[in-house]
Amino acid sequence: MMKEKHFSDEILNVLNSFFADGRSPHAVLIDGGSQDERQSLAKLTAKMIVCANQDMTPCGMCENCRKADEDIHPDIITVTKPDDKKFFVKSDVKKVVADAYLTPNDSLKKVYVLSEIQQMNEESQNLLLKILEEPPVYTAFVLTSQNANSVIGTVLSRVVRVRLGNSSAIEYSQKAINIVAELSAAVLSPYEFDKIQATAPLDGNKKLTAEVLELFISVLRDAIALKSGGKILCDDFKAHSTELSEKLTVKKLLDMYDAVCLLYRSLDNNPNYTLLSAVLCARI
Ligand SMILES: [Zn+2]
Repeated sequence: MMKEKHFSDEILNVLNSFFADGRSPHAVLIDGGSQDERQSLAKLTAKMIVCANQDMTPCGMCENCRKADEDIHPDIITVTKPDDKKFFVKSDVKKVVADAYLTPNDSLKKVYVLSEIQQMNEESQNLLLKILEEPPVYTAFVLTSQNANSVIGTVLSRVVRVRLGNSSAIEYSQKAINIVAELSAAVLSPYEFDKIQATAPLDGNKKLTAEVLELFISVLRDAIALKSGGKILCDDFKAHSTELSEKLTVKKLLDMYDAVCLLYRSLDNNPNYTLLSAVLCARI
């Protein structure tokens, strides 16, 4: 493929792997990085999907590539939230789901680029899930999100992922790392007391709670990825995510993932932190 100067070889290798042996992905999630990087990578991915030369996509020479470069390809449809709204509008998402069944115009495939879906609420993500579960062979989706924690687990389990480097990566405290290790072990313990003990240090501590939830979400996400033959992104907790994926069902992992993500999102609304650790305890 053409070398895009903006992205590292590592990112491009991940992307290319989705197109290996003439395959083409049904749904790609691009998360992390800056919004510009996400947009630009989403554009490249969409171009690769519509390109007429699938064995060397994007060829950069065909009519599809040309139109994609000029942002005038009729089979690349970008959907965002309206400027005056906080979230994607439900009727827009419904329209995507309905239109997904219409065949493409110019290319063999058409692509919906759904940008910044941290701005899509859970109800709309569930609507989208319907089409992600069984998309027509000629329809693909490229989703971008500031961070994968805003994507519900069931949607996440339907996409292949490209994670852009996070330039503002948080340094996690050793304390948070230790708690996540304990928490991961407590999930598998038959004793309620282990869960209470693991979550107790979070009581009332806002910063620590945010760190722990963020890390724990990564562990659960990796456990889910392992179940579907995917790769681990968070090496530090490899042993824990592996054990969770071996001992828990996909459903249990997805339920837990969604519950913990919900708690994480609730941090924006200044929750009662003492109650929060009790809720966490009940959900794992
Ligand atoms: Zn092409």
